[in-house]
Amino acid sequence: MSIAQTVSCLDGYDPDALRVDKAREAILACLSPITETEKVPVREALGRVLAQDIVPQINVPSHDNSAMDGYAVRFSDLEKQPLKEIGAALAGKPFQGRLGAGECVRIMTGAVMPPGADTVVIQEVVKKDGDRVTIPAGQKKAQNVRYAGEDLKVGAPVLRSGKLLKPAEIGLIASLGIGEVKVRRKLRVAFFATGDELASIGAPLKEGEVYDSNRYTLHGMLARLGVELVDMGVVRDDPAALEKAFLLASKQDVIITTGGVSVGEADFVKQLMAKLGEVLFWKIAMRPGRPMAFGRIGNAFLFGLPGNPVAVMVTFYQFVRDALIHLSGRSDDALPLLKAVASENLRKVPGRTEYQRGILFRDEGEWKVRTTGQQGSGVLRSMSEANCFIVIEHERAAVRAGELVSVQLFEGLA
Ligand code: AMP
Ligand code: MG
Repeated sequence: MSIAQTVSCLDGYDPDALRVDKAREAILACLSPITETEKVPVREALGRVLAQDIVPQINVPSHDNSAMDGYAVRFSDLEKQPLKEIGAALAGKPFQGRLGAGECVRIMTGAVMPPGADTVVIQEVVKKDGDRVTIPAGQKKAQNVRYAGEDLKVGAPVLRSGKLLKPAEIGLIASLGIGEVKVRRKLRVAFFATGDELASIGAPLKEGEVYDSNRYTLHGMLARLGVELVDMGVVRDDPAALEKAFLLASKQDVIITTGGVSVGEADFVKQLMAKLGEVLFWKIAMRPGRPMAFGRIGNAFLFGLPGNPVAVMVTFYQFVRDALIHLSGRSDDALPLLKAVASENLRKVPGRTEYQRGILFRDEGEWKVRTTGQQGSGVLRSMSEANCFIVIEHERAAVRAGELVSVQLFEGLA
C-alpha cells in the first residue's frame, strides 16, 4: 500500500492541521522494521536490538547457596544446641559430605548449601567455643538461602527479541554463559541540512549567514540511538545539488533533512521531494515544529524536518526517535510522562500541542517545573538549559501557577 493510502485510512487525518498523536500514528502505520540480523560477541551487543529470545539452558544460580557469611544448619536442630561444626563451605569450594543431626557447617556467601542443611545463621549472632556452636532464638527456617534458579530458570524465556540491550541485559546474558547473540543490523541513517544561508564551521561567517548547527544536534541525537550515520553535509537550495543528495541518501534506510519545508521556503525543495518519491507535507498542530515532510524516496523513509534549531530537536524527539526505534526492531515501552507542579503561569492556546523547554526542580519536597524563559524556535540555548519538555496537551489552554503539567525528562538512567 502506498503511504498516501495508508494514512488516508486513519480517522481524522488532515495534513493541514494534523494533531501530534495522529502524525505519530500515521508515521508508525507506514513503517516496517528492518529484518536482517547478525551475530556479535556479547559485549558488542550493548546498545543493539536482540533478534532472538534468550531462554536459559542453566539455572542461575545453578545451586542453592548462602546469601550471607555464617553457619549452615538444619532448622529442626536448633532445639538441640550446641551444634557441632564439622567443616566449611566456601564460594567455589563446596563442603564434601552431608550434615547429620546436631551438626553445622561454616559457610561463606555464595557457597553451595551442604546437603542436609536448610537454613543459614549469620556469623554475627553465633557463639563459638572450639567446635561447639550456639545459636540464639529467633531464627527463621530457610533464611539467608538463595535457591537454584531464583534469578533465571531453565526454559523460562528471560529476554525477548526486540529488547534493547543495556548493561543489565549484557550481564544477564553473560550469567547464562552465552558468548554470542543475534541482533538486528544497525539502521543506516543519512542526513543533511539545506539552506543557502548556512555556513560550515571553519569558514568565516558572511553577512546574513548562520553556522549550520542542525547537523550537529542531529548527529548527537542519532549517535545516541546507536544507528549508523551517513553525514552528507550542507546542501544548497539548488535543485541539481538537492536531487543528487536525495538520490544518494535514498540508498540508506532513512533520510533526515532540515530546512526547506516551511511555507515561506522556495517551493522547489518540496517539489523535488515530491518528484523523487512519495512525500506528504504536513502542518502539524504543535509548537515548535509545525511544517514537516514524511514519505519515501526509493527504499528510504524520509523525514523532512523544519529548519529552526529547536523545531528540529522537538520534531526529532516527538516523531523521528519513535520511528527509528520502531524501524530498528526495538519493542520499547513509551517514555513516561510525569506530572509536576507549574511554578509559574504558562502561556498556551488550545488547538496545538506545545513542547515548552522546562527546568524540573525540587522545592520543599515537591517537584516543580518552570520554563527556561524565551521559547522562540530559534533559541537553541533553551534546549541546553532545559532538563525536560513541558508537554501541554492539544486541548489545554493557558496553565496557571500551581496546576499540574506533564513533563518528559531529557535524561534517564542507563
Ligand atoms: P527554513 O525552514 O529552511 O525556512 O529555516 C528556518 C530557520 O532555521 C531559518 O532562520 C534558518 O536560517 C534556520 N536554519 C535552517 N537550517 C539551519 C541549520 N542547519 N542550522 C541552523 N539554523 C538553520
Ligand atoms: Mg531554508
